[in-house]
Amino acid sequence: MQRIVLASRPEGQASEENFRLESVDMPQPGDGEVLVKIHYMSLDPYMRGRMNAGKSYAPPVEIGETMTAGGVGEVIASNSPDFQPGDFALGAFGWASHACALASDIRKLDPDMAPLTTALGALGMPGFTAWHGLDAYGRPQAGETLVVAAATGPVGSMVGQLAKQKGLRVVGIAGGADKCKLAVETFGFDACLDHRAYASAEGLSEALAAECPDGIDIYYENVGGKVLEAVLPLMNNFGRIPVCGMIAWYNSAETDLTAPAIWRTVLTKFLSVNGFIIFNHYDRYGDFLGEVAPRIASGDIKYLEDIAEGLENAPQTFLSMMQGGNTGKQIVKLV
Ligand code: NDP
Repeated sequence: MQRIVLASRPEGQASEENFRLESVDMPQPGDGEVLVKIHYMSLDPYMRGRMNAGKSYAPPVEIGETMTAGGVGEVIASNSPDFQPGDFALGAFGWASHACALASDIRKLDPDMAPLTTALGALGMPGFTAWHGLDAYGRPQAGETLVVAAATGPVGSMVGQLAKQKGLRVVGIAGGADKCKLAVETFGFDACLDHRAYASAEGLSEALAAECPDGIDIYYENVGGKVLEAVLPLMNNFGRIPVCGMIAWYNSAETDLTAPAIWRTVLTKFLSVNGFIIFNHYDRYGDFLGEVAPRIASGDIKYLEDIAEGLENAPQTFLSMMQGGNTGKQIVKLV
C-alpha cells in the first residue's frame, strides 16, 4: 500500500518537500477492525494546522506519520459483524491507499442514497459545518444581509444557499471572476466580489458597502485577512460573526488589523462573535442530514466538486487548494 507522511514541518508557506510518498506493507485488520481500500480522499484547509508542532484543538501530525484525512472506501476484509467486504464506509483513513479502522469509528454509506463523494463535501463535514455555524451562531432572519468568503467552496456555497433560502440578501467573496459568476449563477448569491481585484481592504470595503446597502448582519468568517478588515466597518449593531476559519492566516499571521480596532468594533456594535470546531457538534449531524440530504437529492441545494486523481498528486493539490486553486470541494480519487 502507499501513504503520504509528513516529512518536515513547514515554516510559513507549506511546500511539496513537507510531504513524502511511501510504500509500506499492507496492514492487517485486528479484532473489531476492517481493512478499507480508499476510493476518495478529502483535502481540507484544517490539515495545514495539523502540519504545525504544538497542540491546537487537535494534536499535530508527527513527523513520519501519515497525514490525516477523511476518506470514503470499500471494505475489503472485515473482523467485525457490522461490515462485510463490498460495503462502503466513511472514516478518518488518512492520505493513503488503504487503512485499517475500528468498525465503531467508521460510518457505513449507501452508494444508492447519494454519490459517495458527497460524504466528504456537501453532506459531510464541510456541509455540516456550514449548516451548524449558520444556524447556531449566525441566527439568520429573513431580510438580513449575510457576507461569506470562499463562496464557491463546500462551506461558503452551503452557507450562501441556506441563507438565501431563508430570505436573506447574500453577498459572496471569491477569488476570480469565474468563481464569482458561479456564486451568482449556480449558487444563487445576490452578488459576489472578487477579493483579488482589490489591492486594499478599503477598496474591497467600498465595493461591499455598495452591495450591502443595509449593512451586514452576519459575516460568516472563513478567511480573516483583508476580507475581515473590509467587512468589520460595515457590520450592523447586534451583528453576528460565526468564526469558522481564517485561511488567509494559516500560512502566516501577518495583518494590518489591530486588536484594539477589532475589539472596538465588537464592543461598539454589540457583536456576537462565536468560534466553533465542528467535531464538537456531531450530536446535530442527524438533524443536518435529515434537513439537507433531501434538498441535495432534489437539486434544491447545489454542490460542486473538484476531483484530482492519484495519491501522488495529493500534496500539490492540497497546496493549490490553500491558494484558491480548487473550484468546489477538493477531493482526490484514488481508485
Ligand atoms: P474551500 O474549499 O473553500 O477552500 C479554501 C478557499 O479559501 C480557497 O479555495 C480560496 O477561495 C479561499 N482562500 C484562500 N486564501 C484566501 C485568502 N487569503 N483570502 C480569501 N480567501 C482565501 O474550503 P472549505 O469550504 O473546506 O473551508 C472554508 C473555511 O472553513 C476554511 O477556513 C476552513 O478552515 C474552515 N472550516 C472550519 C471548520 C470548523 O470546524 N470550524 C470545519 C470546516 C472548514 P477563493 O479562491 O474563492 O478565494
